[in-house]
Amino acid sequence: MADRPLTIAIDGPAAAGKGTLAKRVSQHYGLAYLDTGLLYRAVGRLAAESGVDLDDPEATGAIAARLDTADLTETGLRGREAGERASRVAVHPPVREALIAFQRSFASQPGGAVLDGRDIGTVICPDAEVKIFVTASPEVRARRRTDELNAKGRSVAYETILAEVRDRDARDAGRSAAPLRPAQDALLLDTSEMDIETAFRAACDLIDRATS
Ligand code: C5P
Repeated sequence: MADRPLTIAIDGPAAAGKGTLAKRVSQHYGLAYLDTGLLYRAVGRLAAESGVDLDDPEATGAIAARLDTADLTETGLRGREAGERASRVAVHPPVREALIAFQRSFASQPGGAVLDGRDIGTVICPDAEVKIFVTASPEVRARRRTDELNAKGRSVAYETILAEVRDRDARDAGRSAAPLRPAQDALLLDTSEMDIETAFRAACDLIDRATS
């Protein structure tokens, strides 16, 4: 356990298991947790609901500027359509800028925090004590996501999910504003061959070594 407030940045591509990992890490170290993808998902949903063009940087930026924490608890935000909308609004600099203050203020709370996303180590918390970049091959991520959806009774083809994963990777890594990439000082964690328990233990190892 760390004896001072820790900020832990966990970044990586869609469906790499960041969320599950970040939540468990936050519980283990007694830190607050923010899934920053929810912010972009909420902006995408509010934009779609109010008939705003998802490709309009200024209009979606205005929605991001008015975002309220209550918007993050809406149901349906974790679905595939919400993820797709999120990655469309996330390319716009006004959207990203409007969400910076909230994320930084969350990260600097006195008790410390874990944030997961795409640009936490590079843009939001460049001074985070620990930065972990979680990856897995597109095929492994698509397989996990397909199994997860099928287990929930939503029958969906692996090939469909693989195409979505590749699309999202291309958009997240190819955008000019805060593209998905590991920070220079990020620790890489490839979970392609790991189950969640092994990935969790590997992440704790990295964190303990980085903070000892
Ligand atoms: O992590 P999640 O799949 O919920 O993120 C949805 C989308 O939101 C991502 O594909 C990405 O485009 C965007 N996002 C981002 N920066 C973050 C978190 C999410 O651009 N820090």
